[in-house]
Order: sequence, then structure tokens, then C-alpha cells
Amino acid sequence: MAKARAKPRRQAKAAKKKAAKKKATKMPKRPRAAKSTKAAKRAKPARAAKPPSAAQSYKPLEAPKHPQPGLEAASPFEMRVNLAKDLPETDVQSALDSGDMGFLHSFTTGSAVDGPGVRVVAWTTGCQWRCRYCHNPDTWTMRNGYPVSVANATAELRKYSQGLKVMNGGFTVSGGEPLMQHRFVVKLFDAAKKMGVHTTIETNGFLGERLSDDDLAKIDLVMLGVKAWGGELHKELTGRDNGPTLEFGRRLAKLQKKIWVRFVLVPNLTDDLGDIGRIAEFAASLGNVERVEVLPFHQMGRFKWRELGIRYHLEDTRPPPAELVEQACAVFRGAGLEAH
Ligand code: SF4
Repeated sequence: MAKARAKPRRQAKAAKKKAAKKKATKMPKRPRAAKSTKAAKRAKPARAAKPPSAAQSYKPLEAPKHPQPGLEAASPFEMRVNLAKDLPETDVQSALDSGDMGFLHSFTTGSAVDGPGVRVVAWTTGCQWRCRYCHNPDTWTMRNGYPVSVANATAELRKYSQGLKVMNGGFTVSGGEPLMQHRFVVKLFDAAKKMGVHTTIETNGFLGERLSDDDLAKIDLVMLGVKAWGGELHKELTGRDNGPTLEFGRRLAKLQKKIWVRFVLVPNLTDDLGDIGRIAEFAASLGNVERVEVLPFHQMGRFKWRELGIRYHLEDTRPPPAELVEQACAVFRGAGLEAH
């Protein structure tokens, strides 16, 4: 009986299911085209808006409240180009003159290789040298960087200031060549010192005379790139004379400003032990060189040369073997310097 009573109920259920399926598979109706009216026929199509000119679309130098997106980078090896390409030349010049605004490739945090302790690093754009081994050729051109106000860069640094102090670290300005924007850089260091943060500049020293002694008082440590001793070699390597760099080193010695010398070791280019010996003698004679860093050449920036379409002379050069790095360090140690 139970079965007999269940039959009509089952039939009704099956019929309901079939109806639901039919509804689900039914094609949706095409939306009806709007009825055309005479007015619609007469109406002219809307004109495409004229794209704004570079001058109209240019955002003035007054920087946004927060750093522009992307200012912080995982590392300076990120390729960055044309970030300020539409900035009128007059504004670039007034930024350089006042130092209230500068051009940064990026900000990186947590660096353990750009000065003592853990560092926040501001990477500037603009460099007048053309080192054959440069791993950041995108920083050569100032307009490849973001225009950033001192206020915004300071606000960014302030976020990390307590941590930097706790970790015995600090703030480093590198590049590119930071002294291409010396007024901006000095303002950043001034702000950092007011926060009680240790300051370091990484520079090739060529424009060292731009800094007054008062400016230098805001910098705790100078990481001075000494690329080669012999004038010919230096010119071939960088395109410039090394006289101003050496002179800057002597001036820092007189001021008893701490220096870390940085030397990039490139096989078949800067590996002459005699030339390295002359750099070591010079560095030791200064009396204020705390340490020497021998940096083995690497190819992490090769892709940038390719993408920028610049001829790269070191395409096939390999990093120096560990023994060669040790030999170079030994030359510096032999002159009485601490070398790593
Ligand atoms: S000085 Fe530094 S940024 Fe300038 S070309 Fe040489 S390695 Fe590159």
C-alpha cells in the first residue's frame, strides 16, 4: 500500500523536475534592439576626447602626500626608466637648485651591504660616469627616477627610524651618483640626523667639492668608490679622470670623516695587483679608512644593458674566482687595512 500511495507522488515529482530542466535549458531571449527614433538618427556620434598634451597632463612638482606607488623596490636591480620623462626641463632645474625635490630610482629596506647594520637605502638617479661594469645603467639618467619631495622621502624614512636605531643601522643614499643632486641629498641627511639616524653616502666622489664642510657634518660615513689607480685605466673604465675622487678622499681625511673604500674587482680589467697596490697605499695613507670592500664583479645588471640597448663590453666576463678576490683583499691587508 505504501508503494501504491507513493506512485502518483513520484509522477508529480518527475513532472516538476522535467519542467524545471526545460526552463533551465531555454535560451535567454535576445535583448530587443532599442527602437530607433528620428532624434536618435539625427544625433551625431560623440567626438572622441582629444588626448591631453604632455604639458596639460604634467603633474606639478608638489609631490603627493605619500610616495608614488612603486617607489619602494625589492632591490635596485629592478629596471626603471622614464618615470619623470614628461617633467619640463625648468622644473628639473628648479628641483636641483632648491633641493626640495629629487629623483629616486627607488627606496629599499633591510639592506645589510650598504653601510653598517641594517639600512634603508634611497637610490638616486643621475650619474655622469659610465663604468663598464655598472649594474644599474638605468640610474644614469635622472629622468628615469621618480620626482620625490624631501617631505615625502623624510616621511618614508621616519617609518623605519626607530627600527634602524635599534638595529644599529641607518640611512644610506646611493645611486646613480647622489652628488648629482647634492642639495636634495643634504636635505635628506639633515632630516635623518634630526631623527637620530646614522647616515651614509655611497659616491664616486667626483663631485665631492659640491659639499661644504657643514654638509659633510651631516654624513657619518662615506663609502667611496675607487675604481682604478692608473689614469688611463680609470678613464677607459669610467670615462672620467680619478683626480677629483682622490682629492675628495684627502679632504675627508683632513676632516677625519670615516671612509669605507669600495673597489670592484673585474677579471682582465681591474685585477692588476700592482694597480690595486697603489690604491691600497693611497687608502692607507689617508688614516681614516675604516675598511675596504672588494666587490666581485657580477652579471646581475647585464639584462639592463641589453634592454637599454647600450653596448656592454663585459658581456662574456665572468665573476672573479674566490682566489683572486682573496689575493686582492690580501693586497689591501698588506697595506695595513681591514679588507673584506
Ligand atoms: S659611478 Fe656607479 S652608477 Fe655611475 S656608472 Fe659607475 S657604477 Fe654606475
